[in-house]
Amino acid sequence: MKYHSTRGVAAPVGFGTALHQGLAPDGGLYVPGAWPAFTPADFDALESLPAIGARLIAPFAAGDALGAELGDITRDAFSFPVPVRPLDADGRYRVLELFHGPTAAFKDVGARFLAACFERLHQPGDVPVNILVATSGDTGGAVAAAFHRRPGLEVTILFPKGLVSPTQERQLTCWGDNVRSLSVRGTFDECQRLVKQAFVDPSMRSRCELSSANSINLGRLLPQAAYYAAASLECYRSHGEPLSFVMPAGNLGNAVACLWARRSGLPIGEIVLAHNANRTVPDFLERGEWQPRPSIATLASAMDVGDPSNMERLRSLHPHLADIRQAVRAYSIDDDAIRARIRADFATYGEVWCPHTATAAEAYTRLSAAERRQRRWCIVSTAHPAKFAEIVEPLIGRPVDVPAALAELFRRESHCVEIDASLPALRVAMEA
Ligand SMILES: *Cc1c(COP(=O)(O)O)cnc(C)c1O
Repeated sequence: MKYHSTRGVAAPVGFGTALHQGLAPDGGLYVPGAWPAFTPADFDALESLPAIGARLIAPFAAGDALGAELGDITRDAFSFPVPVRPLDADGRYRVLELFHGPTAAFKDVGARFLAACFERLHQPGDVPVNILVATSGDTGGAVAAAFHRRPGLEVTILFPKGLVSPTQERQLTCWGDNVRSLSVRGTFDECQRLVKQAFVDPSMRSRCELSSANSINLGRLLPQAAYYAAASLECYRSHGEPLSFVMPAGNLGNAVACLWARRSGLPIGEIVLAHNANRTVPDFLERGEWQPRPSIATLASAMDVGDPSNMERLRSLHPHLADIRQAVRAYSIDDDAIRARIRADFATYGEVWCPHTATAAEAYTRLSAAERRQRRWCIVSTAHPAKFAEIVEPLIGRPVDVPAALAELFRRESHCVEIDASLPALRVAMEA
């Protein structure tokens, strides 16, 4: 399998190279040059997520050294349960829970798969690889957790001092060992600028190899297709019907993963995107004009994206507006509707949603009654509500239980160095 850049200038590369590069050299995103044509029967006798994931990803890694290790990689990456639970009596409405990993959000899935691949790409005697991540909150914690104590790999996290929530800060600084957490006196944009400067600075690159783990990396996207495969196969085996998904959407990584799974032949019906008040995608589908804009702050903060990077992948899969409109639908859910949905579904189902998951639960209610009856639906739950206790608890009027994994992180000692937002300061911190 070769991966092509969405911008069409960079030469096609294999799986391992695409993973290692992250972004293509022409600034585009890597997309598969061909699609597998699976049928549900190709997964017969495969039950577990690691087994289904390895089968699904095999053609995407064909011809690459990592291909032979996919079984190990998916067992290493999918080390926590990813359950689908029914929300109604006949199971026509379900929830896919992606938050049982080390940092209680779905980004653990992609980050762990990428880390497992990097560990295997690294040979003893190679210079260490340092993964540089600028984070405004969630991603950095998942990447740190995934790479923590992996041999030959180091992580440097840059976050804006005082601009992440106390819970997020604890998740970014509780690691130590091969993870370096830098609290940068500056904004998130300055953290990102520093990372970009480090990548092109020869003195930074001479000591160790720098790499990235940002959300456009193919190695974070493909494993996400695995849980859509597993959930849809389970539905197909039990009912002979495809499963339709409603998912919280920001940068569209989770959405593209689902589209890729459907394109590869998995029994997936409709795909509905639930955006927060950042309306770029819903407006595009409605008006046909792509108008990226600055992001606005919402309760579902991990989705505050005004210019979703994976749109390039979506448009490469469906180049014409009419095709995109056929492939996905999108709703924009504002903060008031998020709050109301958290209250309502706690009252109706006893379920406590995080603000991101609540956008999907709300978008589901905006489907017509006929649509809801005709298909089997699954909303995607992307984070545990305990990560957003200060928003959720006043709405439901009771405390949210903290999952064991998060509680364990909160008990750890904090390691963090404060630096100025400058390249020399970053260099000094990385040599310490
Ligand atoms: C990142 C994130 C999202 C958005 O996912 P995309 O793949 O960027 O669309 C949704 N919910 C949570 C909790 C997230 O961390």
